[in-house]
Amino acid sequence: MTKEEITKIIDKQRCFFATNKTKDVSFRIEALKKLRKEIKNREPEILTALYKDLGKSRSEAYLTELSIVYNEINIVISNLKKWSRPKKVKGSIATFPSGNYIYSEPYGIVLIIAPWNYPFNLLITPLIGAIAAGNCCILRSSENSINTAKIIPRIICNIFPENYIYCLDTYTEHENVLNQRYDYIFFTGSPRVGKIIMEKASEHLTPISLELGGKSPCFVDKNANIEVAAKRIIWGKFINAGQTCISIDFVLVHKDIKEKLIAELKKQLDLNYKDAQKSDSYPKIINKHHYIRLKKLLAGENNVIGGICNEKECKISPALITETDFSKPIMQEEIFGPLLPIIAYSNIDETIKELKEKELPLACYIFSEDKKYSEKIINELSFGGGCVNDVILHICNHNLPFGGVGQSGMGAYHGCYSFETFSQKKAIIKNTTRIDLPLRYILLNKKYNQKN
Ligand code: NAD
Repeated sequence: MTKEEITKIIDKQRCFFATNKTKDVSFRIEALKKLRKEIKNREPEILTALYKDLGKSRSEAYLTELSIVYNEINIVISNLKKWSRPKKVKGSIATFPSGNYIYSEPYGIVLIIAPWNYPFNLLITPLIGAIAAGNCCILRSSENSINTAKIIPRIICNIFPENYIYCLDTYTEHENVLNQRYDYIFFTGSPRVGKIIMEKASEHLTPISLELGGKSPCFVDKNANIEVAAKRIIWGKFINAGQTCISIDFVLVHKDIKEKLIAELKKQLDLNYKDAQKSDSYPKIINKHHYIRLKKLLAGENNVIGGICNEKECKISPALITETDFSKPIMQEEIFGPLLPIIAYSNIDETIKELKEKELPLACYIFSEDKKYSEKIINELSFGGGCVNDVILHICNHNLPFGGVGQSGMGAYHGCYSFETFSQKKAIIKNTTRIDLPLRYILLNKKYNQKN
């Protein structure tokens, strides 16, 4: 699509937004119900597309994409009336005797850009928040998940007019998408592209959310429950073949239990991922570029368990890298694939100090039976969110804000946090003319303004 064609659609959306129809809460709820119904009708198509793009099994695709979207729609529908009401807040001495309120109003035209790793969930979940808050939307999927990217415009144009919500095709040049005036941009993807988005947004001072990535550590303390830790680490790391923004990027284990942890991790791999590179239900690496990138990272390591490559299917079986250090290439970039470096530490304070010098990660996981140990890490390290004695689960509760910090992003969403993200907060004071306290007029009083 050309830049001019997109501008025309945005102009139409501006006209529609100006009618105030999207400000009607019943209109928004109806839109969300339509969306839910259309997704339900097209479930088989969506699951097939996700299989073609990423080799996701039906159950994995349902769990990590569709069920999250349904859950989000249901929560929003049940709470939207409450969230969108003006909120009365306490007044101050200066505002007495007025009523003080916060009104939530939509920004206007929102651009949502999604990555390829959860291509359905990561485009539709922010869309739900944007609709809930009463915005019009322009959507853009990733060109890397082409099958899913083809279905989403069909879903959208079947239920919504283009002057309300429009999904661009993936052939549209990025410049054509970005060289427009939006009222909010919600971007999920890499820090590299996040910087481009922020720069472009600055031209019109457009507010943004950046949902980015990073190298998320997983600490294993010497008193951790190693069997459970190993089970959960393997589960969380190799969902979607490690192509998950909040996946564990690397493990930091106390040196005294390193060998025991590796033995348990290996046991779990043998149980769950034997010959995964040939398995139909094990996701593939999204494309040749990423497959080669991961293969190179693997080739730079000497101590590897697993990591068998299947070039034809673009699959790499889960790999444990049992001996590596922070200077290796694998520790310089977000891995975003099924390779798990394990680094032993002997002093937690030194390790925390070392991590503090690096970019802030999206997630952090801690396995320990010692509350002091986990609280120390939570309080001393900065990261988007995480779990103690678990992994990934903090993304599954809509009562928790989901987002990053520093290089892993800015802003948060899910549940009411999505509604907050996509609404501007308008502060309103409603005063009465029946009482007129003289105090404020003191400044007008000449006597007080005279110099001594
Ligand atoms: P990416 O940054 O390459 O692409 C993301 C989106 O931006 C895609 O739709 C792509 O088409 C588009 N894009 C690429 N170049 C652009 C440009 N110049 N202008 C405008 N848009 C452009 O990221 P990716 O490879 O699709 O996804 C992987 C990254 O996303 C990882 O870093 C991962 O951690 C991160 N991620 C973060 C979250 C989160 O919720 N925080 C979720 C999933 C993935």
